[in-house]
Amino acid sequence: MLACWTDPIIASSGQVLGVVMAYLRESRAPEAAELELLRQASRLCSIAIERKQLESQMLHQASYDSLTGLPNRRLFGDRLREEVAKAERSGSHLAILFIDLDYFKEVNDTLGHHYGDQLLINVSLRIRQCVRESDTVARLGGDEFVVLLLDVSESACLERVAQNIIDMMAAPVHLDDHVAYTSASIGIASYPADATSITALMSAADQAMYAAKSKGRNCFSFFTLAMQQQAQQRLLLGNELRDAISKQQLQIFLQPIVDISSGHVVKAEALIRWAHPQYGMVPPDKFIPIAEEMGLIHDIGDWVFYQAAQAMQRWLEVCTVDNGVYQISVNMSARQFVHGDVGAEWIGYLSRLGIPMWHMVIEITESLLLGDETDVRNKLQRFRDVGMNIALDDFGTGYSSMSYLKKFNIDFLKIDRSFVRDLETDPNDRAIAEAIVVMAHKLGLKTIAEGVETEQQKIMLEEVGCDFVQGYFYAKPMPVEEFMTFVSAKGASR
Ligand code: C2E
Ligand code: CA
Ligand code: CA
Repeated sequence: MLACWTDPIIASSGQVLGVVMAYLRESRAPEAAELELLRQASRLCSIAIERKQLESQMLHQASYDSLTGLPNRRLFGDRLREEVAKAERSGSHLAILFIDLDYFKEVNDTLGHHYGDQLLINVSLRIRQCVRESDTVARLGGDEFVVLLLDVSESACLERVAQNIIDMMAAPVHLDDHVAYTSASIGIASYPADATSITALMSAADQAMYAAKSKGRNCFSFFTLAMQQQAQQRLLLGNELRDAISKQQLQIFLQPIVDISSGHVVKAEALIRWAHPQYGMVPPDKFIPIAEEMGLIHDIGDWVFYQAAQAMQRWLEVCTVDNGVYQISVNMSARQFVHGDVGAEWIGYLSRLGIPMWHMVIEITESLLLGDETDVRNKLQRFRDVGMNIALDDFGTGYSSMSYLKKFNIDFLKIDRSFVRDLETDPNDRAIAEAIVVMAHKLGLKTIAEGVETEQQKIMLEEVGCDFVQGYFYAKPMPVEEFMTFVSAKGASR
């Protein structure tokens, strides 16, 4: 080897990526054509290298979450597929932990997205610390994470990891001057014990996570056979629910709401019932979540409103005393608000029936107010602009933020049944009920206590200044015609 000609490989950014070298058996300088060849070679190398770099960068972006740097849903899916195939061949076990943060939305809403992001980064680091290097931690999106644990079959071991993560999450997170608190709900599913396909395994862990949420959050739950049966039943019910309206199996019941000072029935809440040919009366708690999941809630919600409006028309016909105050409320779930023109047709329907708008009340829950603020506020305002009223349902069970009450225009606050239930025995609940009433009145809202079952409860609610009461002490929800008989009898005996 007597000579070596070189030419640097330079990227379009000017960065030197490498060098092209040509070795010769004789000692001489390159001729012009040879030099050009060398330059062409280095240019081609630079194009090839840059292209490769871009490819791997794109692959990284497509596979990793840009915020936390963790594998994303896609990469996690690939790894899970690979590991399940390996486990199938070798007969080994694996498990996935589905982690959902509790109250993340609240942190995001109160401190802002910047701190929400910081919290997610912090959380991802904490989860990583709880598992082995060989285990995969991925972010599925939002506040959902998942862990893939290999070669574990003992539930004690899974329990330990899950508990570790929960303990880690419980420590406060310092974000500049703020302190955020969060916790995690975890669902655990194992391969092959709980499921043998990837979709079934993910769905099992998801169901277990929901079970942990409903156990009160900040805990973990294993997937069980009962959950599987429940899921199957939900699927079955969901299919039947599609036809329930056309088969006229749905009904609304009305529950009287009484003015505490006069004792008169002045309002009613419309509550949906499903008269199922096999299972009898299915309560709304069993099928409303399914309707929401399947997108049927819009049709059902419209149907409920129209039925309630017709009931209002009947009520105005059968009772003429007091009819200047009657109102019927309908429950509206957060999912119903995602439609752009929510309520537009309701307004038209009421006009056609000739019922003044203020006879109808929309009951919403706090979770709705945590959503996209301006959008929700505009949609609620549309109801109020035409004269309908808004009631905040189940107050005291959720976030119970006073600031929301100020921000959104709300007319009634419904004190949740859980406070009313223990009024007689728990002095704290009495204090809370009183505080809610005082605060509501200060903000110009009227209060309705739910679930009043005894006279004593009613007396105590009267003492703390509550305006309206609703509950079995007065009457259970009843079919519309029964309600009409009930209110006309009350009117006659006045
Ligand atoms: P909610 O809005 O909190 O309705 C009050 C629930 O408490 C009703 O249960 C009612 O029957 C029950 N209740 C009333 N008074 C008493 C009492 O004194 N003691 C006890 N233990 N319970 C009492 P229901 O009818 O089973 O409805 C359950 C939930 O289903 C409702 O809770 C509401 O969130 C939802 N829901 C009902 N109808 C509809 C609807 O048309 N649309 C939507 N989106 N949700 C609905
Ligand atoms: Ca309600
Ligand atoms: Ca309620």
